[in-house]
Amino acid sequence: MEGKLKKFGFEVSEKIEKDPPSYSIKGVVSFLNENTIEDDRRLAISLGLGDPSRFKCFRTTAIAEDAVIEAIRSAKFNSYAPTGGIFPARKAIAEYLSNDLHYQLSPEDIYVTVGCKHAMEVTVKVLARPEANILLPRPGFRNYETFANLHHLEFRFFDLLPERGWEVDLDAVEAIADENTIAMVIINPGNPCGSVYSYEHLSKIAETARKLGILVVADEVYGHIVFGSKPFVPMGVFGSTVPVFTLGSISKRWLVPGWRLGWLATSDPTGLLRKCGIADSIKNVLGPSPLSPTFIQAAVPEILQKTTEEFFSKTIDILRAASALCYDKLKEIPSITCPQKAEGSMFVLVKLNLSLLEDIEDDMEFCLKLAKEESLVLLPGVTVGLKNWLRITFAVEQSSLEDGLGRLKSFCERHEKKTIA
Ligand SMILES: *Cc1c(COP(=O)(O)O)cnc(C)c1O
Repeated sequence: MEGKLKKFGFEVSEKIEKDPPSYSIKGVVSFLNENTIEDDRRLAISLGLGDPSRFKCFRTTAIAEDAVIEAIRSAKFNSYAPTGGIFPARKAIAEYLSNDLHYQLSPEDIYVTVGCKHAMEVTVKVLARPEANILLPRPGFRNYETFANLHHLEFRFFDLLPERGWEVDLDAVEAIADENTIAMVIINPGNPCGSVYSYEHLSKIAETARKLGILVVADEVYGHIVFGSKPFVPMGVFGSTVPVFTLGSISKRWLVPGWRLGWLATSDPTGLLRKCGIADSIKNVLGPSPLSPTFIQAAVPEILQKTTEEFFSKTIDILRAASALCYDKLKEIPSITCPQKAEGSMFVLVKLNLSLLEDIEDDMEFCLKLAKEESLVLLPGVTVGLKNWLRITFAVEQSSLEDGLGRLKSFCERHEKKTIA
């Protein structure tokens, strides 16, 4: 057995892994969690992962809970759903997305997936061709890379520019694209940057993609979660300029990541994707894939149509205040620079000024010592493609955020180089 496993490249090792197993977000966060102080009188605080649903103030709306309970009680949704999702769910998602467009998506443009992450994997699988490559943002969301590796799709990175509100460096996109580039990914509102793209910037992205002859994959899982001056503009608005794969889910806006319901929408008013057989290709990929639970799908029309503005604005108000608190507190820490106050999503990305710190080599060491000394978990930037930065999640209860930022400040003060007066 061992010989066989070795033959196929599985490493046999007695060594117990002490280092983080990989630079996956979950891997690094659980490694850091294990390193928080065990008998600390203070509770460990995690500003590492973006899952606010465990806090009371981020409970989903009763409308969503009731819709799911009713779907279960009806006993009408105990069967497998068809590939692509049950019709009422596809129709409701098409209508929900069309509210922000000047054309109508049809239920056939919608594919229900097991959360947005599944929509990401389906997208990568559909686009994976032997010679093809896809362009990914840096910093970004690691799963795109992981899926591209898994399904043998070459990827290349373009930078986002912190000094320009984390906009896409479109010159870099043009420089790295070639005749084999099939698509570029944007994440708006941004994870890990907390950025929100303006209409003008999205329009430039669309023009660039059109010029290069590539599709745009728009990860809009944080769609409508904006609290700055810019409104949320979906990439699908530019569907006539360039066909768009819009990826989304109810995980973030409705605060139910465990419900596993997302979508892939083809925003393609010119019908190009359908003509090229992309729709068939999506169905082929979805065929053997897992399905989102049928009773959750059945609850989707109620969830999308009936949720009140009050519920959304309550969440947005909490996030706006949390983002502002973060920005103000971080300004008091000389060894951390925050180039841009978060205007969307649940994160802010900040730069470590290592030259001001002693005995800290990089972001990973910073986060490890922070966990050990303060029982505070932050995400090192390496996990999102930007070494020596930190991603801070502010979608937590306000008292934890205040406490966490206080701990961060005292940690930095303790480790800052002492200047000789
Ligand atoms: C959370 C997240 C996802 C995954 O969403 P699910 O619906 O929970 O699968 C996808 N993309 C980004 C950028 C995310 O932050």
